[in-house]
Amino acid sequence: MEDCLFCDIIAGKTKGEIIKENEFVVAFRDINPMAPVHALIVPKKHIATLNDVAEEDAELISQAVFMAREVAEDEGIRAEGYRLVWNCNRHAGQTVFHIHLHLLGGRYMGWPPG
Ligand code: 5GP
Ligand code: ZN
Repeated sequence: MEDCLFCDIIAGKTKGEIIKENEFVVAFRDINPMAPVHALIVPKKHIATLNDVAEEDAELISQAVFMAREVAEDEGIRAEGYRLVWNCNRHAGQTVFHIHLHLLGGRYMGWPPG
């Protein structure tokens, strides 16, 4: 495995603010938050982009969504609402090539997104 920032955070090699984890995914706060609540939900398995997700990874994807919902509940934004975002590759602005689900909330979100 080549160097991967998120694999290092998951392995505890890099200090990350881990909020929650289970067998499949970890959640930690984004270092550069774009909203009052901005967490990243990251599958423990290294997968570079959404394009690389296989049928056998279906459980990881649903676990990420459920984890995001739990964090939204813990952070008190479940009822008001939140946005979940997977950025894939250049046009979406993906910068870390280990898939992650952004949980954004605590303010109104514009639509369409930038
Ligand atoms: P992307 O642009 O790939 O969808 O999102 C990558 C996210 O990772 C960005 O929002 C960025 O702020 C966040 N990030 C980058 N490096 C670190 C880090 O070392 N720790 C944490 N917690 N977040 C990071
Ligand atoms: Zn990784």
